Order: sequence, then C-alpha cells, then structure tokens
Amino acid sequence: MYETVSKHNLMNWALALIVFDNQIYCKVQMGDITGFLKIRRKEAGNRPVNERICDFSEVEQVLNSEDRMLQASRCMDCGIPFCHWSCPVDNLIPEWNDLLFKDQWKAAYERLSSTNNFPEITGRICPASCEHACVLNIDREPVTIRENEVAIIEKAFSEGYIKPTPPVKRTGKRVAVIGSGPAGLAAADLLNKGGHTVTVFEKDEKAGGLMTFGIPDFKLSKAIVYRRINLMLKEGIILKTGTKIGRDISGKDIISQFDAVCIAIGAGQPRDLDVEGRNLNGIFFAMDFLCNKNRVNAGTMHSDENHLNAENRKVLVIGGGDTGSDCVGTAIRQKAASVTQIEIMPKPPVERLPDNPWPYFGKILKTTTSHEEGCERMWNLSTRRFIGSEGNVQGVEVEEVRWEYENGRYTMKYIPGTSDIIQADLILLALGFINPVTDGLISELELELDNRKNIKTDDILATNVWKVFAAGDSVSGASLVVNAIASGRKAAKEINRFLRNQ
Ligand SMILES: Cc1cc2nc3c(=O)[nH]c(=O)nc-3n(C[C@H](O)[C@H](O)[C@H](O)COP(=O)(O)OP(=O)(O)OC[C@H]3O[C@@H](n4cnc5c(N)ncnc54)[C@H](O)[C@@H]3O)c2cc1C
Ligand code: SF4
Repeated sequence: MYETVSKHNLMNWALALIVFDNQIYCKVQMGDITGFLKIRRKEAGNRPVNERICDFSEVEQVLNSEDRMLQASRCMDCGIPFCHWSCPVDNLIPEWNDLLFKDQWKAAYERLSSTNNFPEITGRICPASCEHACVLNIDREPVTIRENEVAIIEKAFSEGYIKPTPPVKRTGKRVAVIGSGPAGLAAADLLNKGGHTVTVFEKDEKAGGLMTFGIPDFKLSKAIVYRRINLMLKEGIILKTGTKIGRDISGKDIISQFDAVCIAIGAGQPRDLDVEGRNLNGIFFAMDFLCNKNRVNAGTMHSDENHLNAENRKVLVIGGGDTGSDCVGTAIRQKAASVTQIEIMPKPPVERLPDNPWPYFGKILKTTTSHEEGCERMWNLSTRRFIGSEGNVQGVEVEEVRWEYENGRYTMKYIPGTSDIIQADLILLALGFINPVTDGLISELELELDNRKNIKTDDILATNVWKVFAAGDSVSGASLVVNAIASGRKAAKEINRFLRNQ
C-alpha cells in the first residue's frame, strides 16, 4: 500500500499547481518524499503527571529541532492536501513542512504567518482538524502538524525573525475593534498592517479574551498571549482595556468617532441548569471558576479573594466538553479532595464510526491531559436536582438516560430506577455558551440577531448597522480560537475593502 501511495504521490508533485487567493503556485519537490515510510510519528509528550499538577506551567513539552525536522519529513505533499482543506485559516501546511524539513525555518515562518496571525496560540491549543484530515491518518499516524506549527513560530521568536513592523504609511482611516479575543486581535492586526489606525476596546483589565481569562495557563501560558499583544502595540495598535462599550462609551459614540467598527465580543452568555436547588451555595459557572484562577495566576486577584477555590472540596463538573476538562485540571491543581465529570451524552466511540469517515474530524473519545491527572468520568447522566443543607450544596441527584434514534433525530429517554446521588460541595456548570451577551452594546445599537441570538451578518460580515461589522464567537456562537482568527481575518479584509471604497 505504501508503494502505491508513494508512486501516486510522485505523479502528483510533478504535475500539481495550486490556485490560492487568485495566485497560481507551482508545487516544489518535497525534500524527502519517502520520509513517512522511514520515520514514525513522534510527539513531544507531556510533563509527568506528578510534576505538572503541582504548578500551572504548560503541560506540553518541546521536541528538539532535529527530531522536529524529521517529523516534518513525514509530510507526503499529497496531490490534494486535505490538511490544508480542513484548516480554518488555510495554513499552507505541506509548504511549511517541506521548508522545515530542509532546515529553512525563516522561510517556513514566513509561509506560516501569511495565513495565521497567531500560530503560537493555535500551535498550542488547536484541536488540529488538519491532523484528523492528514492522509497518513487513514493509518492513524498523522504528521505532527500542530506541534510543527508551534515549533516554527517559537523558533521565529527565539531567532529574532519577528520584529515589530509598523505600516510605512497610514491611510488616515480609523477603525474601532470591540473585544480583544482572537477574532478582534486578528482583525486589528490585519487592519493595522493595512495602514488603518486601529483602536481595540476591551472591557476586562487585560486583553486576550478567552485566551487570557478562560483557557488555563497549563494549556496556554499568558506570557505567550502578552508577547503577541506587546508586539501589536509596538506596531501601532491602540489598546484601551477596562472600557466596556455600551456602558463606559456608547456604541453610537464609537460609530460617530470611527470610519468602521468591528464587533468581536465573544459568546459570553453561559448555559444554565434550571433544576431544583440551583440557588444553593457552591454552584458556579465554569467560566467564573476558571477566570478567578487565571486572575490569581496573573496577579490581578489576591488568592484570599478567590472564594472559588477547589482545595479539599469534592468537585463535580457538569458538562463533558473542553471547558469542563479545563475545570478538572484546575481543580486538581488546587488540590481538590476528588473530581468527577459527568456528561448527558453517550460515551463517544474509541474509533471512528462508519458515518464519520476520514477526512472529517473524528468524533471519538477524547482523553485530555487533565483527565489523565485523576478524574472520574461518567456519561449518559442527567442532573435531576441539586441537594443541600442549610443553603449549601451537598450533591446532585442524577438519573441514567439512553438516546434513541427516532424520526431522524436522537431523543433522550430516562431509564427508570437508575437515580443516584453524587456527593459534591463544589459544582461547576460547564454546559457551554448560548450566545453573546445582548444587554448593553447589542441592544443599544439594535443589532439584528439570528435565530440562535448571535449577531446576524451577511456574507461580508456586515451587520444591519451601517459601517458596523462583526466577527468571531459573537457571530458563530461558541467555537474555537482558529475559527475566531479566520473570522477576524475575513472581517478585516471586508472592512479594508469598505474603507477603500469610501
Ligand atoms: C474554558 C475555555 C477553554 C477553551 N479552550 C479552547 C481550546 O483549547 N482551543 C480552542 O481552539 N478554543 C478554546 N476555547 C474557545 C475559544 O477560546 C473561543 O472560541 C475564542 O476565544 C473566541 O474568540 P472571540 O474573539 O470571538 O471571543 P472572546 O475570546 O470571547 O473575546 C471577546 C472579548 O470581548 C470582550 N468584550 C465583550 N463585550 C465587550 C464590550 N461591550 N466592550 C468591550 N469588550 C467587550 C470580552 O471581555 C472578551 O475579551 C475555549 C473556551 C473556553 C471558555
Ligand atoms: S491552525 Fe489548527 S487546523 Fe490549522 S494547521 Fe494549525 S493545528 Fe492544524
């Protein structure tokens, strides 16, 4: 089989032309077209559990440059690079893998940064749909694309390839970006590089959105986020933190003072669980728990002020997704007595099901580094009520459910006689986010919303209000950093076109 693939590949790199952004690129010959036959996938790996749970430093380790280049040699430069197809920012993966293998780190960085504003972030925390779509993943040993990405950008920082490059000429146009998450920052970065004068408004005391206040330090060090923001400031972006638009400055004032506005306020409205006992003490939204710890770690909150500490508490996380997993890792580091995570959906399969074939994202069981650190996980459990005494939560009553496929959709059915009690005195609701916060800016500007209460935009990300565009989770609903970056980039291109036509 390998031989067949290899021959097929030989044909392809000889013939292939790529059309991208209306440009035609001729594919270069790969440095080692049989690298994938000789080199096995090798990941950098994680710090040992007993060491990493004692601190909030990043869990993932770094591979040495030689091994990293060998890993890049595994890229087959397929005729159709499915990795590129599945990457939301259209990263030119085969091209920078080839340059990386050839020890041309600077050129690899230049390719990478042409499509992605923040590879140091996606290279750390992207779920890497590219690797799910990698042709080698048919055999379940995809190229280490995400790790290669972060290696390239970290080398670029350490070797000094990245220097502040403010635009040579300013256009005289002023753009306001509201919200400093990845969508707002990606839009601001491109608009600034295009010569417009960009002011980013952020309601929190620090910029970065969920990269700063949601995602824990053990997945993404805040030093990495601030390094990028400081670079952007040196390039001329104006940042006004602690300024909530719609409260401190009205949305209408912003519109009158700027030539265009990009709203990137995220999807900050958490999903609640409206069952008996919800008002007991000790039940919190996951984001409040994570935010507090991030603030303590950043030094903007004293640890004594953090009443949301899991130390010695029996923690129950309701919600089996990534936010829940981040709560697990944080609670373990705070020395919780026990950590349990429950999920209403069934346990995912270990391998792809027939209706979820390659190259689509594999909907399979995910065990995060936080899960490895010591957590009990349960599926098919619905929370019936919270139980407490003297106003404080002591546990939850759960009941098992099963999911039946009826009339084209799955319906949840309770299984009689399966009620049980899970003891817990700190309960974290990690049930996702439903839409952007609509009080304030959105209602003041009378922005039209879609049927999921996200900001409604047309295909150029324009809202119903003249010269106001929107991007990121506030438009799509809660998603991923890489999707937010892609959306911010698109908004920037459309705003730039809008300004040039004024
Ligand atoms: C706990 C957690 C973990 C996650 N982990 C991952 C992960 O591992 N990988 C991944 O890819 N994605 C992850 N995500 C998702 C990812 O963080 C988001 O999809 C992404 O940050 C969305 O970017 P955004 O710019 O649209 O919004 P946000 O990052 O939410 O930024 C919006 C910003 O707007 C500001 N704002 C809101 N209203 C106003 C206003 N009126 N005036 C001024 N500022 C305002 C907010 O304070 C915020 O800073 C995670 C999310 C959470 C909650
Ligand atoms: S941004 Fe994500 S999907 Fe794109 S190359 Fe990087 S890890 Fe893969």
